[in-house]
Amino acid sequence: MRAITPEIEIYDTTLRDGSQGQGVSFSTADKLRIAERLDEFGVHYIEGGWPGSNPKDVEFFEEAKTRRFRRARLAAFGSTRRKHARAADDEQVRLLIEAETPVITIFGKSWLLHVREVLQTTPEENLAMVEDTVRCLKAQGRFVIYDGEHSFDGYKDDPEYALATWQAAERGGADVIVLCDTNGGSLPEEVVQITRQARAGLRVRLGIHTHDDIGLGVANALASLEAGVTQVQGTFNGYGERTGNCNLTSLIPNLAFKLKKQSIPAESLPLLKELSHFLDEVANVRPNPRLPWVGSAAFSHKGGTHVNAVHKVLRSYEHIDPAAVGNTRHVLISELAGRSNIILKARELGIDVSKDTPQLSNMLKRIKALEHAGYEFEAADGSLALLIRRSLCEEAAPFVVDAYHVSMRSEGKTSVCEATIKVRAGKEHAHTVSEGKGPVDALDGALRSALVKFYPHLRNVKLTDYKVRIVDSSVGTAARTRVLIESGDDASTWTTIGVNENIIEASLEALVDSLEYALLRKQFAASVVKVEAREDDRSRISKERHL
Ligand SMILES: [Zn+2]
Repeated sequence: MRAITPEIEIYDTTLRDGSQGQGVSFSTADKLRIAERLDEFGVHYIEGGWPGSNPKDVEFFEEAKTRRFRRARLAAFGSTRRKHARAADDEQVRLLIEAETPVITIFGKSWLLHVREVLQTTPEENLAMVEDTVRCLKAQGRFVIYDGEHSFDGYKDDPEYALATWQAAERGGADVIVLCDTNGGSLPEEVVQITRQARAGLRVRLGIHTHDDIGLGVANALASLEAGVTQVQGTFNGYGERTGNCNLTSLIPNLAFKLKKQSIPAESLPLLKELSHFLDEVANVRPNPRLPWVGSAAFSHKGGTHVNAVHKVLRSYEHIDPAAVGNTRHVLISELAGRSNIILKARELGIDVSKDTPQLSNMLKRIKALEHAGYEFEAADGSLALLIRRSLCEEAAPFVVDAYHVSMRSEGKTSVCEATIKVRAGKEHAHTVSEGKGPVDALDGALRSALVKFYPHLRNVKLTDYKVRIVDSSVGTAARTRVLIESGDDASTWTTIGVNENIIEASLEALVDSLEYALLRKQFAASVVKVEAREDDRSRISKERHL
């Protein structure tokens, strides 16, 4: 069965333009994995690379020949032929054809400045290069997309010539002509006007390719739709040269939820955040918390009044339900913390707290005092959950560290740390020793081997990240160290915190919290049911989605 033709086609160039971004680099295996995910998500085109400029990209297209893509059409990217030659004899054009992709995208010059100064040829020869190359690729039976490089700057410089280059591509038989804001400096109004001019002078379908140099990559792409564009090129997470490309992670939900245009399959939209994270992981880029729609801060509430209002009506400070793009709401605990923050945070963690809970004001005081001492609970949900629980119930901790010792010795060129620890769980005792690469590693090993005797399922818990920061170095006070530990198992991840003048003490505090949270979080989950039963339907449904 044929898929319905979308109103707006998404052309992904994460693997080509996106890989030009600072700190982004993909192996051939990475690119294949990404292409498969993009196909599953439902983008309409995947630009795999430039075979003529990069042997790694030739390898990618060789591998891609054996894969079947369900939805997306694969595109190879290249340029117009060299000057004063035939496209059919051009080495770079030959490599494009040999990539055997259903779609070939080539770029050519729209700006006379580039024709004269960069290509160092005549305006007429440039037009011939565009037309001849497109015609040659069409003769191979391919779907040909023509990217007009510097379309907007070229048009501003010489409108007639810019239009002539696009018309040359149309004469050659191009299926789509894409106007590119290559330097990323155009304003939405200019984009609309110039696109309208292109629309009036061409019959072929139009696309848009923008960059984010002045923060308008997405805005410019959206603006161009008004002038009749039906294909948008961009990259996920906005990867790309300089400040990046049009960010598809923002563009796609804007199309779907704000403009109500049909593009990516509706069932893929709640997978957007997951896709964004997957890409950061493969690219080895730290996720940007402030990324619109999918960032971890996109639906975070900190100010007391906001939290209070969100608590009452979810719509009041949120433009959309975060679950629509697979994101979740977070309530940040901070020095601004008020009662509503704590109540909402406790409920987010699955603990039943209301404004009538008697321990609430003590809890608040304790959080403020600890934050003053350098703790930061915004990033440490595991420790915060424990703190709330400790203030609510008298129950003893599942284990206590009675004593520990850490030492270091050097053996030849390497150094080894050794930790011993005495742990008590109820009436049981354990005394263990472990070696590690560093003192924290050794301590972690000793604590775990003591605890798995009592709680075997802790074996599945892994320490996934360890961060250290100095928090207080003002004159007269000793610097404190803040340690954040991220832990996880098959089901979830959580973060815990320790603060002390001694880094080992701070680390042990965070380690103890991490494992205690792992043991107690089942109880937290159980109390969610109680909270949910009292809430209205809307919030219950959104909570279920989060779980
Ligand atoms: Zn670009």
